[in-house]
Amino acid sequence: MFSRSSFADHEQVVYATDKATGLRCIIAVHSTRLGPAIGGCRIREYAGETEALDDVLRLSRGMTMKAAVAHAPFGGGKMVVMLQPGQEKTPALMQSVGRAIERLGGRYITGEDVGSTVTDMTEIRRETRHVLGLSQEQGGSGDPSPSTALGCFAGISAAIEFRYPGQDMHGVTVAVQGLGNVGWRLCQLLHEAGAQLTVSDLLSDRVQRAVRLWDAEPADASQIHAVNADIFAPCALGAVLNTETIPQLKAGIIAGGANNQLAVEHRDGPALMQRGVLYAPDYVINSGGMIQLAAEFMPNGQSDVERRVLGIGDTLTAIFEHAEREGIPCNAAADQIALARLDAGPVEPADRVAAKSAAQ
Ligand code: NAD
Repeated sequence: MFSRSSFADHEQVVYATDKATGLRCIIAVHSTRLGPAIGGCRIREYAGETEALDDVLRLSRGMTMKAAVAHAPFGGGKMVVMLQPGQEKTPALMQSVGRAIERLGGRYITGEDVGSTVTDMTEIRRETRHVLGLSQEQGGSGDPSPSTALGCFAGISAAIEFRYPGQDMHGVTVAVQGLGNVGWRLCQLLHEAGAQLTVSDLLSDRVQRAVRLWDAEPADASQIHAVNADIFAPCALGAVLNTETIPQLKAGIIAGGANNQLAVEHRDGPALMQRGVLYAPDYVINSGGMIQLAAEFMPNGQSDVERRVLGIGDTLTAIFEHAEREGIPCNAAADQIALARLDAGPVEPADRVAAKSAAQ
């Protein structure tokens, strides 16, 4: 455990099981230095425990970096529930997830992720208060995707201003990969601001609707990264920036909501810099949803969500400037800023106290 590269100095890694419900899960708490660790609950079948362990460790470290850069008074964590072949999610299973989280006493706060839903969060809530992302009727802040899309829009605006000072969104072309919760809303915002859209999705009805509504140009799903556009906005898959796609890019800016866009960070970040492509680091530009969810545990948090989400634009500008000054890739610049915040410790004592007491 301690020597694997994904371990990355985790504070705590917990395996939990429940024979009655068939629960097998791992909870990774990477850091609580800035506050309790937040991160979603991923539920899926894994090829084996090693794959599940690497997944949860990698994702929880990513949450630490995301919260630190976003100035959220939280640390980073993640949870994976390993389904066995043919095993169904049941309310009882989700309640046992809640009990596993409760045993950590508030050091880890869960939320939705791949494979989990608002309904699952409701079942978890029966056993623990340490859960975010309930519906608004249940006192939560609801679907975080609109905040994620708004943050991406702010990030794209900041990238345009940095790369093409004085240019507004009119006439700018954006190639959006993936028209799901985030990509669809992002397209709406871009269209309203006057951008020209090129779009792709595996679901052709979504593409046809975008063509009808916004006069978007449809693109082949396997070629969207290579179309002629000012900006490429990945909003679907991870690892979309790799040795095959980077040489084919025509856009001068990469700025979209997908997680883990660089297949290999230390290889593909420098490759983008060498091609002169301005890259908005994924965990910064897509942090709007996390900012909304984190605000559920902060006093008057929801009233300030929009301002904080729009602040992603300023955060990215600071990262672009730092990268340019130091001559380093943008992803490395974001990492340096996140690690410096971690070293400095909590900067918002009031929020931190509120977050801590909510988690107690
Ligand atoms: P989603 O499942 O609602 O949408 C994904 C869309 O991408 C779907 O329409 C799917 O058909 C399409 N797609 C899948 N493979 C594709 C391909 N090869 N080419 C083109 N389209 C493809 O997911 P979402 O919530 O919109 O999230 C999108 C991305 O943003 C994911 O990487 C997610 O991890 C990340 N993200 C989402 C949030 C959020 O608030 N929802 C927050 C942070 C990060």
